[in-house]
Amino acid sequence: MKEVGKIWMNGKLVPFKDAKVHVLTHALHYSTSIFEGIRCYDTPSGSAIFRLPEHLDRFFKSAKLYSMKMQFTKKEISDAIIKTVKASGLKESYIRPLAYYGYGTMGLTPTENKVDVSIACWEWKMGESKAGKFSGAKCKMSSWMKIDSRSQPMQAKAASNYANAALARMEALENGYDEAIMLNSHGNVAEGSAENIFVVKDDIIQTPPLSAGGLEGITRDSVIQIIEENSGFVIERDLERDDLYSADEIFMTGTAAEVKSVTQVDKVKIGNGKMGNITKALQKSFSDVVMGKDERFLPWLTFI
Ligand code: PMP
Repeated sequence: MKEVGKIWMNGKLVPFKDAKVHVLTHALHYSTSIFEGIRCYDTPSGSAIFRLPEHLDRFFKSAKLYSMKMQFTKKEISDAIIKTVKASGLKESYIRPLAYYGYGTMGLTPTENKVDVSIACWEWKMGESKAGKFSGAKCKMSSWMKIDSRSQPMQAKAASNYANAALARMEALENGYDEAIMLNSHGNVAEGSAENIFVVKDDIIQTPPLSAGGLEGITRDSVIQIIEENSGFVIERDLERDDLYSADEIFMTGTAAEVKSVTQVDKVKIGNGKMGNITKALQKSFSDVVMGKDERFLPWLTFI
């Protein structure tokens, strides 16, 4: 990682290399942290953060679900995000706000410890989302079951959810795939390891309801709104593995992935094995929206 700019820690911008925590930080031991992943795009009218208020809302909701007493208001975090991005000098970046139970009392109960907040941003690199963006990702049905809200609050974007996701991702990569798709405890499709999922069959776009265990993705919501604004619709229904194998097109959505095509699930080719037309059209519409080229969605951009 390129160590550029500064990292905001509890109200102060500190040099990138000095943004450190104590090894007895509660979250390091017990996974008691929540975070966000946000993108800042280099649009023709300047740098703009995509759907910042929605990300802030989810950040605070995640904190609430872990009983975190935030020392900062939404407005203060919003201002801090903008300050951090500006200090980085980057036109385009990935932004990572994090709230975690910090260093204090050791032991399981976190609530006696202060909730520390940091905001980092770094240069955006295509990385893992590249496969699906251009050529179509090859996905493996994970042997790991998606954890669900009987165990942990799934509406929280919490670090603890990501051990499950990382196991699925590692298994997929170790087996020569690009990404994992996870089933929930009912055998229905939940989501990818870090993306929501959509299936197209006979021109009907479908996605699992959030009750299937996927994160309430902001890109998922954006894509649904873009489709509806263009006079289309998306059906939310439980999807089974069969629905994936027999789909005409599959795509995944996420802040990092944007709209990424899936052209293979296990050893099964999806459709003709190439990126589908609906996926391609959505990639274009989404790109226009984040680049500020679609006036209808300009309110989603916070120019900095
Ligand atoms: N599901 C999971 C598990 C994720 O980590 C992400 C990425 N944040 C998503 C879905 C997509 O969410 P969003 O569109 O808000 O990035």
